[in-house]
Amino acid sequence: MRFVPMRSRRAKVVAIAAAAAAVGTTAVAVAAPASAATACNVTYSIVGSWPGGFQGNIVIKNTGDAWTSWSLTFAFANGQTISQSWSGKATQSGANVTFVNEAWNGSVANGGTVNPGFIGSWNGTNGIPTAFAVNGVACNGTTPTSSVPTSSVVTSRPPTSSVVTSRPPTSSVVTSRPPTSSVVTSRPPTSAVVTGTGGPKVDNPYAGATGYVNPEWKAKAESVSGGSRVSNTPTAVWLDRIAAIEGTSNSSSNGAMGLRDHLDAALAQGAGYAQFVIYDLPGRDCSALASNGELGVDELPRYKAEYIDPIAAIQSDAKYRNLRIINVIEIDSLPNLITNTNVAKCATMKSNGGYVNGIAYALQKLGAIPNVYNYIDAAHHGWIGWDTNFGPTADLMYQTAVASGSVNNVTGFITNTANYSALTEPYFTINTSVNGTSVRQAKWVDWNQYVDELTFAQAFRSRLVQSGFNSNIGMLIDTSRNGWGNCTATSAAPCAAGGAARPTAASTSTDVNTFVNQSRVDRRIHAGNWCNQAGAGMGERPKAAPASGIDAYVWVKPPGESDGSSTLIENNEGKGFDRMCDPTYTGNERNGNSMTGSLPGAPISGAWFSTQFAQLMANAYPPLS
Ligand code: BGC
Repeated sequence: MRFVPMRSRRAKVVAIAAAAAAVGTTAVAVAAPASAATACNVTYSIVGSWPGGFQGNIVIKNTGDAWTSWSLTFAFANGQTISQSWSGKATQSGANVTFVNEAWNGSVANGGTVNPGFIGSWNGTNGIPTAFAVNGVACNGTTPTSSVPTSSVVTSRPPTSSVVTSRPPTSSVVTSRPPTSSVVTSRPPTSAVVTGTGGPKVDNPYAGATGYVNPEWKAKAESVSGGSRVSNTPTAVWLDRIAAIEGTSNSSSNGAMGLRDHLDAALAQGAGYAQFVIYDLPGRDCSALASNGELGVDELPRYKAEYIDPIAAIQSDAKYRNLRIINVIEIDSLPNLITNTNVAKCATMKSNGGYVNGIAYALQKLGAIPNVYNYIDAAHHGWIGWDTNFGPTADLMYQTAVASGSVNNVTGFITNTANYSALTEPYFTINTSVNGTSVRQAKWVDWNQYVDELTFAQAFRSRLVQSGFNSNIGMLIDTSRNGWGNCTATSAAPCAAGGAARPTAASTSTDVNTFVNQSRVDRRIHAGNWCNQAGAGMGERPKAAPASGIDAYVWVKPPGESDGSSTLIENNEGKGFDRMCDPTYTGNERNGNSMTGSLPGAPISGAWFSTQFAQLMANAYPPLS
């Protein structure tokens, strides 16, 4: 494992945290006959503990004949109960616990391990079970101490509800306790500017570095009147299919330039960093249709061999060692496993491990390269800002990073990718009350714990650190389309539905709904709307270290590239038609059965949509000069 001097501060943090934690590990020794076909070692660890709750980690090693399925049994001695599990399905009857394999980790060869984990509750004593059996055979042998980091001390209790079925959740699943995450720990200062070293990794790869401007996006931006005002802005290059690695001239979203061409162009520009979106998971975009990809739900082997491996081979070329290569990893995927498993495809991707194992593989392969920085996508406040989603998402991300071999493969996280959530609501906060009623009760906020992306991203960073991530992880916020400026309508670029301009002061209404609706700068009809939003504008220009805990504001979604077609458009790129992109659709439970607020006339996702680009410029905030 690489250990870079910049991060030596972490070792101290981990040691202190470990000392404070109620951490335990046991090895179980029960004699098994020498001829036994089934044999196992089990290591059970408490890797995090907080009043009433804890996180357990189990490593089961197969020391006998291969298994095609496994069932682990043990008993709690002190009345502990399991509320949530992963990498194994847990059931409990009284003190007796059974974990059975998921569809994707039933086969374990001799010498192989599986690693289920869980969240449990405890009271008084949290003793470690003393006997374990796999497939009915007691496990034996001396087990190694768990190598799972012990830094996951959780000082406040994570949400207990693990059953979240819709996006965004409705108020019925939201607890009334105040946000536990509003205290943002201050982030260690960012490192001094280092360029051209090729490693060790710097703390913030954006600091002091100039971003790569994608010439293909620049040309599209300049094809629209006034586009040269923004065309030199760094935007991310989306590697949205295997063919994009070499370059495609026949896709709607990408051009002829492949990954090497972009990296060579970045060197030629003298750029300090270049941004890529890793976006081709099997069963991609499981809860929506507009960005379905090319790989079927079971095509994880192709993802690894034909997508990640070639990207890693190119990014590790010594020629690019002086460039900071930034990868944004797999938009929307892990959050979908928390909130959208009521959608069959998401349930499949959860049970077959395609997302977790695909991302773990990407993190491992790309994170091993000294000048490559991985940021995992973390949705946005209007998706995982509710307690029921917030902690479980962070924990799943931690599990995924652990599965990659090391949390050091993760530099940070990005929120609001390709979304429209306002960076900051200037005229109210989550703590604002209107005539004695909390804004959380307003229909717009819908009991969320956050009203904007900056507070959400900062709090989520703290929660990720609680889950076990390094204390100096940094957040990115995609501000490419969340400006919500004063609308200067033209017939080609209309204002948002209702035509309301950006408010300039808090409303004076004493009705909480009216107050929030008149005060908010996010002019969407509903915060669950995500496709080609009418009235949106470009947001903050890319900027390094703009706020505590934030590595950068970035433009990851290239403005002007569609989110999805507003009517069905046949294509051979795997893109579906999602009614959330249809301005005539009246919505579903995920957007409060509201109108979608999407622009008409949109092409398929990724394709150039000049009307939208014009509107994004017209509504930019800060305004374009
Ligand atoms: C599309 C991709 C595209 C990206 C950037 C996504 O919604 O599915 O094909 O590259 O947006 O525009």
